[in-house]
Amino acid sequence: MSTSDVFDDISKCLSYGLESRAKLFKRLCGKRIIDLCLHMPVYTIEKVYTEQLTKSHIGKIVTTRIYVEHIERAYPRSRRPSIVLGKCGKDVVEILLFNYASPSYLHKSFPQGQTVFISGKLCESYKYNFQFVNPERLASQAAAVNASGIFNIYPLTTGIYQNSIYGAMKSALKYLENTGIPEWLPSETLSTNNFSSFSEAIAEIHRPGSIGYSDLVTPARRRLCFDEVLAEQIGIRLSNFTDRAVIIIQNDKVLINKLLQILEFSLTNSQNEALGEILSDISSGTRMMRLLQGDVGSGKTIVAILAILYAVESGYQCAFLAPTEILARQHYRIIARYFDQLWIGTELLTANEKGKARQRILGNIETGAAKVLVGTHAILTESVKFQNLGLVIIDEQHRFGVDQRLQLIDKGNNPHILSMTATPIPRTMVMAFYGDIAVSSITEKPVGRAPITTSSVQISRLPEVLESIRKIIDQGQKVYWVCPLIEESTKVDYTCVINRFEYLKEYFPDDVQMLYGKMKSCEKQEIFQGFMEGRFHILVSTTVIEVGVDVQDATVMIIENAEKFGLSQLHQLRGRVGRGTLPSYCILVFDPKLSSKISMDRIRVIKSSNDGFYIAEKDLLLRGGGEIFGTRQSGQKKYRTFDINNPDNQSIVYETLKQTSKLAAEIVDQGNIDDYSILLKIFSTEKVTNIRQSF
Ligand code: ADP
Ligand code: MG
Repeated sequence: MSTSDVFDDISKCLSYGLESRAKLFKRLCGKRIIDLCLHMPVYTIEKVYTEQLTKSHIGKIVTTRIYVEHIERAYPRSRRPSIVLGKCGKDVVEILLFNYASPSYLHKSFPQGQTVFISGKLCESYKYNFQFVNPERLASQAAAVNASGIFNIYPLTTGIYQNSIYGAMKSALKYLENTGIPEWLPSETLSTNNFSSFSEAIAEIHRPGSIGYSDLVTPARRRLCFDEVLAEQIGIRLSNFTDRAVIIIQNDKVLINKLLQILEFSLTNSQNEALGEILSDISSGTRMMRLLQGDVGSGKTIVAILAILYAVESGYQCAFLAPTEILARQHYRIIARYFDQLWIGTELLTANEKGKARQRILGNIETGAAKVLVGTHAILTESVKFQNLGLVIIDEQHRFGVDQRLQLIDKGNNPHILSMTATPIPRTMVMAFYGDIAVSSITEKPVGRAPITTSSVQISRLPEVLESIRKIIDQGQKVYWVCPLIEESTKVDYTCVINRFEYLKEYFPDDVQMLYGKMKSCEKQEIFQGFMEGRFHILVSTTVIEVGVDVQDATVMIIENAEKFGLSQLHQLRGRVGRGTLPSYCILVFDPKLSSKISMDRIRVIKSSNDGFYIAEKDLLLRGGGEIFGTRQSGQKKYRTFDINNPDNQSIVYETLKQTSKLAAEIVDQGNIDDYSILLKIFSTEKVTNIRQSF
């Protein structure tokens, strides 16, 4: 097998019969054999073989023999199941078969008067002794006995079964063994973390019946987490690296001064300082990589706009990238209002600009007729070509991955980059997310802001909340009402947006609308517009309104199931109000039945402080950095070897981040990148691998 290794095509480990499903495998796991090796089991199950069913088997996965007595076929296309009645010993067993459309298949699978072997979850039956729903059919007794034991359960896709994965994985692990993957981690890292080798860790995880899958409890799983995060960290540092000529921008700030004259406010000292740092970066002869931190409402946008003007004055184009469409449109509206007065061509590009309109926008960007392009991820698509991109602003950057950053850099001649974030994070986290990057902080808020009063109430006191809302609305002010989830979850009793919307409509018939993530974006846009224009006063939504929206006369933020939100998320949401001069209120509605001690601690912290830096610090203490990863936010990066949304994992990931970011910095600084080429080949995309080659 010397000519073959784990980087070969995944179809090599598909046996005869599975070959035709190579496409499905590729979609599920990735193209290469190594990608299959990195397809992680999500949990294990135990399968029991027995010929005598008992109550104690209920709820377990049971394999057994059934004598088929009677078949009742469902009507074609009926939603009802076909029913097979059979005997297991003396017990009558009912087998429900949904979607067994073809009658011949049904009779072939369960021939009357014969014995069959089946495997599935044993349930109680109301009419008979036991019940199975869509059990698996096994070919023989030998197969049935073999099917007992402890098994890994992998994520699947239609057309691929657990058994298909087991077979392919066995062969993939052989390739891995034969490839002879060298060790890349320093021996010190291995011993302090109690890690085995990469290949051993993978083999252990896929060994049937080991434990602790979705969480990082085993050293094997932690090792893979370490490797994946390390590869990402190296990628971040490589993407900061550049050997291309640097754009130098220097001018007399004519445009900046013009805007400052028409601006309805003057900059705070903090804003002035941050702007000074940015301008000195982009005129200095090294490429700017700067992070602008500032609490919600501290006024980051205007600083970015002024930086854009500086670049435009020297003839460069700028891109302003926002994480959501609502936010992109808001930025565009603000920027275009100013820039129209200064005769600067500004365009907006999201997935919703289509057809002729899109062609016109793309044309204006390519010819340089438009100087500024505001938009969402749509800016990153191939068809967008700039004439001379000089500066890129990325709002709320931690939602953009390394690849997306590289895509942007590719679009210009090595443009300067300014990232903005409202989640103030400690230096170690900055390093972890951005690599070695300069930081400006806006530490004061614009003067004249009325305070936000934060309170908490139990869900049982909702009627009182409604009364106070009525008073607010009577004064023409607006209310955000945030719920955590859109669909009723069967697991936890979340209040869902739709229910709350219906409920509020009873009280405020013409004054409520709702907004949620899965809505079409033009619908979202229209509703949000209606809220801004005051066509209604209560906006019920999921966290889609979380980032950056600015509606000045919205003065009340109600957060339902506040116990389900993390600290920085609560703080971000609260920051949607208190943007004008009117006093504002944030009401945290919680359900004591669902609140743990830690969630009550979070609510206490939020009530006690309005300072994002203080809150971020508390967040680190309470959660070990968890929220900073942007849990439950859209567009967030997924990892292959662990589940970032599992709260039990987050303190380990934070620890891993600290270790890997330090190690990655050393590797890149000392030019040892070649020692890690296999690691990068395993985890990184082509883009990252390509810069490694030019490095
Ligand atoms: P964020 O930092 O959260 O992105 P924004 O940039 O959206 O905050 O600013 C919030 C609001 O404060 C905007 O309406 C903006 O016009 C206003 N603003 C910004 N700077 C000042 C200032 N120096 N004085 C008064 N208002 C300001
Ligand atoms: Mg903002």
